[in-house]
Amino acid sequence: MSRVLIIGAGGVGRVVAHKCAQLPDVFSDICLASRTQSKCDQIASELNCPIQTAALNADEVGQTVNLIKRFRPDLVINVALPYQDLAIMDACLEADVDYLDTANYEPPDEARFEYKWQWAYQEKFKKAGRMALLGSGFDPGVTNVFCAYAQKHLFDEIEQVDILDCNAGDHGYPFATNFNPEINIREVTSIGRYWEEGDWKETPPLSVKRDFDFPEVGMRRAYLMYHEELESLALHLKGLKRIRFWMTFGESYLTHLRVLENVGMTGIKPVEFQGQQIVPLQFLKALLPDPASLGPRTKGKTCIGCLVDGSKDGKRRRVFIYNVCDHQACYEEVKSQAVSYTTGVPAMIGAKQILSGQWRKPGVFNMEQLDPDPFMTDLNACGLPWNVLEMPVEEAGS
Ligand code: NDP
Repeated sequence: MSRVLIIGAGGVGRVVAHKCAQLPDVFSDICLASRTQSKCDQIASELNCPIQTAALNADEVGQTVNLIKRFRPDLVINVALPYQDLAIMDACLEADVDYLDTANYEPPDEARFEYKWQWAYQEKFKKAGRMALLGSGFDPGVTNVFCAYAQKHLFDEIEQVDILDCNAGDHGYPFATNFNPEINIREVTSIGRYWEEGDWKETPPLSVKRDFDFPEVGMRRAYLMYHEELESLALHLKGLKRIRFWMTFGESYLTHLRVLENVGMTGIKPVEFQGQQIVPLQFLKALLPDPASLGPRTKGKTCIGCLVDGSKDGKRRRVFIYNVCDHQACYEEVKSQAVSYTTGVPAMIGAKQILSGQWRKPGVFNMEQLDPDPFMTDLNACGLPWNVLEMPVEEAGS
């Protein structure tokens, strides 16, 4: 029986609240807090059990500390935005509580996708006897756990990993993003980067592509991008020679993005307009559909997985470990589409591992540093079943 404070009432926050409320034996008391309390109240009204809600500006450490002291949670689940990570970690240390998030800290005025600021909290969390679990979403999150599982059970040595993220959902809009547009567009327009033989290699944004036959979805074109889990996996997977990340995009999405970029609408530096400072990407966010509104309109599936190359018992082996998730099935269950669902369910499962003691230890951890087995069992039990597909080894390395 544990008390959990969820911060952030967007698409992911809704899923986390629904999934925690489904397991009252683990999450006996829930408080959902966010900048706009009415969004928390709306989510609370959808649940079968009563939860508390609160208004909170998590940029203000003092506000979060006060709320933690009032509600006395065993764990804080941060599913606000990456800009709040450090302030919420500070509040957790001050109020003496464990911490979990789904995305690395981002400085507001620069797209970095780096763990260094959060890894710098290692000693503070250790000393306080508190745990911070970083990146407990799908990617990062489940993809890290898939790699840990492959290392523990499927391979003696892993040489290469390609993380493949396909969203084959259709929401019917010419252009919309499936999660927070600001974060999503920052990520997609950044320089491509992958890790090989100890070095980071860079490619122009979305310039390298491959076609992949995704189970239950079919052939899709995926583009090489940098993604934050590459940093921790390159560090923690022993013997690794190369790791890359790929995401699929449709032609229409890419055309819109190119135009928006060319006219300067994806910029994150403020510009002056009629005497006001405006960040173009934030203005664009205000024009685009709210990701939370895509749920009822989105049809189709997501397929996200890790294509892992290496050897087992002296033989070459290549496997694809993946999950397929159906947008409409997710909406029926928790009133959110699959992108929020595939992030919110692992956040709940990560929280469950900490609260049950299976994963709990002092310090700052990425997901692959912990035992994958209980997490993989819970994925199957809690709505994100996974499969391991043996792939032809002659394609290894491609
Ligand atoms: P949304 O934009 O839908 O929701 C963010 C929520 O955080 C909103 O309710 C917002 O409040 C709230 N918020 C923003 N600033 C503050 C603040 N200062 N204090 C308190 N609350 C605040 O985002 P998503 O739900 O789509 O994403 C949530 C997180 O999940 C993000 O960090 C995102 O990067 C991450 N993510 C991770 C993925 C993974 O696989 N690892 C995949 C997808 C997302 P308001 O409504 O008032 O604006």
